[in-house]
Amino acid sequence: MKSIYWFRNDLRLKDNLALNYALNNSEHILFIHIDDTQNDKNSSWGFKRRGKHRNIFMLQGLEDLQKDLNAYAHTLNRFVGDPRNIFEGLIKQYKINSVFCEAIFAPEEQEKEKSIKELGVTIHAHFQSSLYMPEHLPFELKDLPDVFTQFRNKIEAEGIVPEEPVVLSERIKEILPISIVKENLFLPIFTEAYVNSSFPISDKKFKGGERNANLYIHHYFKSKYPETYKLTRNNLMGIECSTKFSPWLSLGFISPNQIYKALKEYERKNTANESTYWIFFELLWRDYFRFLFMKYGKKLFYKKGLGLSNNNCQHDEKKFNAWRNGKTPSSFINAGICELNQTGFISNRMRQILASYLVNELACDWRAGAAWFEHQLIDYDVYSNYANWSYIAGVGTDPRGGRHFNVDKQKNTYDPDGSYEKVWKKL
Ligand SMILES: Cc1cc2nc3c(=O)[nH]c(=O)nc-3n(C[C@H](O)[C@H](O)[C@H](O)COP(=O)(O)OP(=O)(O)OC[C@H]3O[C@@H](n4cnc5c(N)ncnc54)[C@H](O)[C@@H]3O)c2cc1C
Repeated sequence: MKSIYWFRNDLRLKDNLALNYALNNSEHILFIHIDDTQNDKNSSWGFKRRGKHRNIFMLQGLEDLQKDLNAYAHTLNRFVGDPRNIFEGLIKQYKINSVFCEAIFAPEEQEKEKSIKELGVTIHAHFQSSLYMPEHLPFELKDLPDVFTQFRNKIEAEGIVPEEPVVLSERIKEILPISIVKENLFLPIFTEAYVNSSFPISDKKFKGGERNANLYIHHYFKSKYPETYKLTRNNLMGIECSTKFSPWLSLGFISPNQIYKALKEYERKNTANESTYWIFFELLWRDYFRFLFMKYGKKLFYKKGLGLSNNNCQHDEKKFNAWRNGKTPSSFINAGICELNQTGFISNRMRQILASYLVNELACDWRAGAAWFEHQLIDYDVYSNYANWSYIAGVGTDPRGGRHFNVDKQKNTYDPDGSYEKVWKKL
C-alpha cells in the first residue's frame, strides 16, 4: 500500500501514534508538510494568520525533522498552498491509497481532512495532542462537564493514568520512501536578537524542533524550578518563572505524555508538592479546552460563543488597531503588546490582562484579539487560544460569565516598580 504521512502540528518522530500507525500499515510512504497559511490573509481582520515569530520557530523545527527523516533515508517533502490541490496532484502521480495524519478538532482543519477524503483515498486521522485520550475519559464527550473543576474531579476520582509515550516504529527502517523533492529549506536569518524575551528563539537552546524540545524538557526537570512553579507562574517576565512548554507543545515537537512522564520521574526522584502538581493541573486545562472543541465545534468561534451571555459589542476597528499597535491610553497595556509583537511570547497573566482590556475596556470583538494572538504567538494553538479568549470574553463555559481584570490593580500587583513597563516601553 502506498501512503502519505501528512505532518501537521505533530512535528516529531517519537511518541507519534499516528505516524507509527502509518508506518505499520504501509509499504511505501511519502512524508509531507503543507504550509497552507503562508500566503493567506486572515479574511476578517486583514492580517496574516501566522506572523514572523512562529514562522521562524516552525521552519527551525521542519529543518530538524528533515534531518531526522534523512537519518532513516527518508525526505520531508514540503509544499506551500491549498492541501486539497496538493493532495490531488500527489495522489494521482504516485497512486496513493491512504493518507495518515493527526486529527485536529477545529472546523477549518476538519474541512481540510474532509476535502482530502473526497479525493477517493482512505484518510486515517488520529487525534493525539492531548494527555488523556477521549476514549479514556470516564464519560462520553457529549457529557463533558462545562465547568473545568468538575472535569478535573472526575478524572482524578477515576485515577486515570495517561498513556506511556511510544517509541518510533522500527518499520521506519524498512518502509520504502517515495521521496520527490531534494530541497533546501529556507531558514530565516536573524537580523535582531530576541533580547529580553521570555522565549528567545534567536538563542540556540530555544530553536524549534524535536531535539531541542527534548533537551529543554530534560534541563527543566534537572532544575529546581518545578518545586516553585506555582509561586512564580504569574510573573510577567523571565524564562524560569513558568515552564515554557507551550511553544514546544504547540507544533508537536514534544507530546504532553512525554512531559507527564518527565514530571512523574521528577516527583519520584525529588519532591512532589503543590507546585509540581500544578504543572499537571495546567496541562489538564490544555486537555479540557481540546475536549470542549470536540463537544461544541464551531460554536466556539461565534461572536456570541455558546450563546450563554449577551455579547452585543460593536467592534471598533480604530480601537482594535490602537490596541494591537500598542497605542492605547494605558502604558501597561502598551508594554504588554510591545512584548507580544516584538517577541511572540507573553506570560499567561499578561495574556489575560490584554484580552480583558480589549473586550471590557475597548468593547471590541474578542475574535479580533484572538486573531491577533494567532498572528503573533510562537505557541499559538487553536484550542488554547480560542478557548481562553472566549472564556475571558464570557462567551465560553466560564461559570462566572467572563473575567474583567482591573488594569491598575494588575499593574500594582505584578509590576509594582514599573520594571516590566521600562523594558517594553517602545514599539
Ligand atoms: C487570551 C489567552 C490566549 C492564550 N493562547 C494560547 C495559545 O495560543 N497557545 C497556548 O499554548 N496557550 C495559550 N494560552 C494559555 C497560556 O497562557 C499559555 O499556555 C502559557 O502562558 C504558556 O506558558 P508556559 O508554557 O510557561 O505555561 P505554564 O504556566 O508553565 O503551564 C504549563 C503548560 O500548561 C498548559 N497551560 C497553562 N495554562 C493554560 C491555559 N490557560 N490554557 C491552556 N493550556 C494552559 C500549557 O500547555 C503550558 O505549556 C492562552 C491564554 C490566554 C489567557
